[in-house]
This record gives sequence, structure tokens and C-alpha cells, in this order.
Amino acid sequence: MSSSGAQSDWPAALEEDYRRTQGRLSAAQQHRRAAFDTLTRRWARRLLAAGDDQQLVLHAVGYGAPDPTVWTAKARDGAPLPVRVGLAPQPRFDAETTQTPNGWLVMVKEHTPALMNDYGWLVTAVVDGSLDAEGIRSLRDELLRTERRLEPEADLRQLWDRRVGNAADASVRGAQALLFLVAHEVSHALWGHQGEPPRLELQWDVPARMHGSQEELHADTTAAHLFSRAGGNRERAEVGARLFFGMTHLIDEEIARRAAKRFTGVFAQRARDYLQSTHPHPMLRLAATHAGLGTPPPSEEAIAVQGAIDAIAGRPALVRDEAALTAFRDVLAGAEDGTIVETLGVLEGRQVGDVHAIDLGHLEALVRRDIDTALTVVAVAVLRYVQANPARWTDMHTAVALIDVDAAISRRWAADAAVERALHQIRAAIPEMDELLDLTRHSQLTQSDPEQ
Ligand SMILES: [Zn+2]
Repeated sequence: MSSSGAQSDWPAALEEDYRRTQGRLSAAQQHRRAAFDTLTRRWARRLLAAGDDQQLVLHAVGYGAPDPTVWTAKARDGAPLPVRVGLAPQPRFDAETTQTPNGWLVMVKEHTPALMNDYGWLVTAVVDGSLDAEGIRSLRDELLRTERRLEPEADLRQLWDRRVGNAADASVRGAQALLFLVAHEVSHALWGHQGEPPRLELQWDVPARMHGSQEELHADTTAAHLFSRAGGNRERAEVGARLFFGMTHLIDEEIARRAAKRFTGVFAQRARDYLQSTHPHPMLRLAATHAGLGTPPPSEEAIAVQGAIDAIAGRPALVRDEAALTAFRDVLAGAEDGTIVETLGVLEGRQVGDVHAIDLGHLEALVRRDIDTALTVVAVAVLRYVQANPARWTDMHTAVALIDVDAAISRRWAADAAVERALHQIRAAIPEMDELLDLTRHSQLTQSDPEQ
């Protein structure tokens, strides 16, 4: 598809498909739809133009990255793909992408732009330091209560009017998140993802068709790549993705919480499992995003935004204990160069299919060699992780390597006092360690190299 700028609209037949989904709209709905069309019309065209580029495959490596050969084949016989992005006159925060006889419809639910905007405001207030912990909590709850309304609650309105210092930042952030959401949905269309009907007939609100985890991650990788090309900026794509995932996760958690209240026992667990299998955790989604962006760009903006997202979600801040870090640096200063180089090689691992695999046999052998080597391995893994992760979930490779080291050393040196101290220092330097362990345990991320 050409991006040559002609103001051509969507094909008439596809526009007709879209109109049929609309029914009778109120004046307010028509107004909202017109505003949304203005925002997304050019954006969809630019994304599709970027999608034609054969170079799309070049950066698609890493966790959750789609198989580049599949993508190349699709891009090769890629006739211009008509995609109509529109606003669905249905409440809540969500979007669906479906195929019609004439193309694809990306239907963003009516509350989504407003909620994304609200979230952008809230994140900006936290970044600017205008809210204490209690204020953050109460506004987050307010935001979740407004999920079904189009107008903000009084408190949120007051926040916008009086407390947010940087209005420009707030609306830019909200728009970036919305544009990433649209890029994600357009990517589903590019991949031809059909979704499947929900496997559970639950009373809580799941969309009519759901994409599986793998499809979601593929759409994230592709969205990141398209966004960074169409928007000309990887940093914006990264920030938009973090905000989109942050808001989505907040709402998923709320859905799970409400389901747990309404259902009990096995059924509540099945509800949670279902959400997990169709809604990948933001850590996985960011890894897929970084696969599409090439290398993770831990910009200052991304670090600040993720810190605010964490505070809103109630996660502990990443305060890294300096004394613990110094202890690890001291270990490295006294270590043999050969051991450090060997450790770096093992922890770097290599790409096997969708995952970055580490030779666990080699890692075990290193850790078992002697206590000094074991402590060196820990120090390398910790400092490597800390450097690569100034914000949550920036570099998955270093996180997985650290977890493998943590497990290997606990198995071999459980009774050793120096190792016990090192394990304690890991938690001081990396307060998110247990959270990482928990997430990787549930996502089968770690994988040994099958060829070793
Ligand atoms: Zn999706």
C-alpha cells in the first residue's frame, strides 16, 4: 500500500461493512466517532505502508517474536490490505479485529480512547510527583470504576483541572498508548489472526472472540515495529506500549478480582487460567515489543513512565541497595578474568526458536567448580541484570539468566554462609526478584538449550 498521502478513504464495500456494525448512533456517539476517525485514518494508512516493508523481519528476534519466514511470505504476497479502524458503539476498554468479505474491521470500544486518556493523565500526575500513595490508590480505583462511563468521576476531573502540572505530556502519553493499541489491532489483521470464541461461558465480560497468548505476542512485536517506522521513533513506540500494557493489565486484574468475588473454587481458578492464557503478562508483552524494536531503548521517559505505572499497580519501586551492589562489584574486582568471560558467554546463551536458551549444563558445571567461581557467576548475573533493567521488564534475557543462576546456586550451595549472604544481597539489589521468579515459573520462559 502506498503512503503517498492521497486523502482516499477506505474502500466503499468495507466502509459499508463498518456502517452495518454501527446501528443508530446518538449525536454524542457520532461526534466521538468522527474525532476518532480523524485520529486513526492517517495512522492506519501509515502503519499499513510500513507493513509492506520487507525489512520488517530484520528485528523480529527474541522472546515471543514471530517466525520471520512466515511474516516474509505474508509480506511477499501482501496485496494491499484494507483495514477500517473505527469506534464500536459499545462500552468498556477493549478492541476487536474481525475479517469481513471486504477486508478487516478494527473496532475500538467506545470508552477506550477516554480511558486511555485518563490513564495518561494519572501516569503524568505520578511522574510529576503530584500524588502521594493514597492519592494514587484512590484515583486508580476511581479510574476502574469509570470503566463503564464516558465521563470522568469528579475526583479525576479535579485532578486534571488542578493537579496535573504538565497537560501536554499527559495528552501525548494517552495518545501514544491509543496509537499503540491501534497498531496492535492492525497487526492482528496483517497476520490474519481470526481469534477464537471464549472457552468459558462466564458471566463477566469477555469479548466475543479472543486471541491466544501467542497471537497477542506476535501482534505486539509487529505493532512495535510498525509503530516505530510509521511514527519514526522507537522511544514513542516503547512508551505507548508500556502505557497500553499497564492499562490493560490493570483492567484484567480488576476483571479477575470481580470474577473471584462472584465465583469460588475451581471456577474462579478456571477464570484466572483463562485470563492468563489469553492475556499475556506485561513482562512477556514488553519482551515481544522489544523484539519488534530491535534493542530495548531504556529512555528516561520510558523509565519514568514505567515507575508511575508500577506505583499505580501497587508494585514496589525498584530501589537498588547500593551496599549490595558494591559487594557484587567487589567480588568482580577480585575475580579471574577468564571466569568472568566464561560466565558472560554462558549467560549470553543463544537464540533457539522463540526463546533465548542458556546451556544449563555448562552453568551447573561453573557453579559447582568452587565457591569463588560460584560467587563470581552470581555477581556477573546480578550486575548484568541491573545495568540492563533501569525500569521493570526492560531486558528479558538478563532476567532469565539471573533466575537460572539463582536456582543453580541455591541447589549446589544451600548450606554455605557466603552464598546465603549473596542470595540475600540479590534481593536487596533487585527488589523485583521474587516477582520475576513467580512470573517465569508461570510462563515457561526458561528453557535449556536442546542441542547441548
Ligand atoms: Zn490482541
